[in-house]
Amino acid sequence: MENKIILMDSPEAVTEITITAWKSASGRIYTDEHAARYDGCTHVKCQHCGEPCLKRWSACESCRAKRKKEAFMALPVVEWSGKYPICLYNSDKYFFGHDDLEDYCEQEEIDKKDLLLVLCEPVELRTLDYDFFEDCLADEQELPEEIQKAIDEFNAKIAAYPHVISWVPTNKRIEFKEKNT
Ligand SMILES: [Zn+2]
Repeated sequence: MENKIILMDSPEAVTEITITAWKSASGRIYTDEHAARYDGCTHVKCQHCGEPCLKRWSACESCRAKRKKEAFMALPVVEWSGKYPICLYNSDKYFFGHDDLEDYCEQEEIDKKDLLLVLCEPVELRTLDYDFFEDCLADEQELPEEIQKAIDEFNAKIAAYPHVISWVPTNKRIEFKEKNT
């Protein structure tokens, strides 16, 4: 077989067949019906309630909001002293104090007890490892002592640095009670 020569115009080169294809609403042709249907639709059924939802989601907006709230409510509750910032759950909206939060609530016309808020914590700066330069060295070669010393000094500075550079949300939620101010 491998030594057989089939020329382009030889009858053996092709076989004519007829196939069924699907044209989606957007005009593209598919040999797979499911793919064509997905291309041609705007909405799919929500996995949870069956209502139509935009096809890029697997669940509708209200089911997603419900699940988000459930996941949030399952987090442990902590007090907010106001010392650390807080953040809207799964978002990059941070509040750096009570005033900041009050302003937002006023602007959005929402009660703070209805917000999904989590406590933030300081991000710890990374220190430098000798291995950081591994790619620059030959096998078994060690960093020059002077450079090692500089790395140690750098790490000591990082460890002693007293300020917070940035914040990251934790999985601890803040709960405001009705009477809380
Ligand atoms: Zn739904």
